[in-house]
Amino acid sequence: MLKKLVNENIKNLEPYKVPDLDYNIKLDANENPYPMPEFLGENIKIDMEKEIFNALWNYYPDAQSKDLREELAKKLKLKKENIILGNGSDELILNLMLTYVSKGKKVLIHTPTFAMYKITTQIVNGEVIEVPLNSEDFSINKDEMIKNVIKDDVAMTFITYPNNPTGNLFEEKSIIEIIEKAKGLVVIDEAYSEFAGKSFVDKVSKYENIAILRTFSKAYGIAGLRIGYMVASEEVINEVNKVRLPYNINKITQIIALKVLKNSENMKKIVKDILEERERMEKELSEITEIKLYKSDSNALFFKTEKAEIIFSKMLENKILIRRFKGDLKNFIRISIGRRDENDKVLNIIKELFGKN
Ligand code: PMP
Repeated sequence: MLKKLVNENIKNLEPYKVPDLDYNIKLDANENPYPMPEFLGENIKIDMEKEIFNALWNYYPDAQSKDLREELAKKLKLKKENIILGNGSDELILNLMLTYVSKGKKVLIHTPTFAMYKITTQIVNGEVIEVPLNSEDFSINKDEMIKNVIKDDVAMTFITYPNNPTGNLFEEKSIIEIIEKAKGLVVIDEAYSEFAGKSFVDKVSKYENIAILRTFSKAYGIAGLRIGYMVASEEVINEVNKVRLPYNINKITQIIALKVLKNSENMKKIVKDILEERERMEKELSEITEIKLYKSDSNALFFKTEKAEIIFSKMLENKILIRRFKGDLKNFIRISIGRRDENDKVLNIIKELFGKN
């Protein structure tokens, strides 16, 4: 009975699905395999616990998250007015949509990519234009992107750098060309940039039509707290700030994110470790001819194999979660890089399946 009241664009919407499966090893969502508070060291952990315990939970958190934005600004050599925080970068993607997209406006994405761009476009009743990546290496189809960004009704373009799920970085020169030709806002999603060591943050002062999304969920290892940030011109930040819900970053998150950020040399050590493990995994997997491994600049491996479904099931049997796909990507698998012992288990299962043990 109430169904007819639901907005048309919501009726047909597929929600983002997070599978509810039993596991011991979680390598399906590109999270960090190291528990961050432990990694920060005992003193910082005790200090952090004290601060959380003594925080006045009866009062709302700092609505502007001033300390955290100031620390981020210092690190990025920008002003805090160039930074807005979100309850995960997911929330910032939705806030961008609420600010710039509505019925009649279009959002340009490359495919495959992160699912939330499409879902949030549908939430605000916009239309998605999809430009497939080049199939041989998942590089960006610059010419096709440019054909679209020059259109007046393309309000926003998303470029994922490095991309998810494919894991690769696109050519910087191509992205610059896209930015320079675009009539709308170009959002560069750098959720995995710490693993790639490349970023467009330093281009924010040069191009007023770009916004950079970052997250604490991957390299910084605090996905459970839900915090991301966006870097852009003051003008863009001020507009998006109008749709941000008050107090969107809770007190505990503000305290922990600040500690994590102030001790970011720990994050760098973890990134180094993950990259070494990635290299080891790549070397081992590339010896299996039935697997076509793609170049990764992130904390995950993406490969093609006829045995995708079997690999997924075998992992699940061993309580290991990895990512499988449907449709065009049904022969593809994405595995997040875990700790050495976790990766060993993954490698053993794959090798066994291909008779390499
Ligand atoms: N962007 C990309 C490319 C992602 O892969 C993810 C999470 N998988 C996000 C954004 C969202 O991250 P979060 O909301 O945890 O900050």
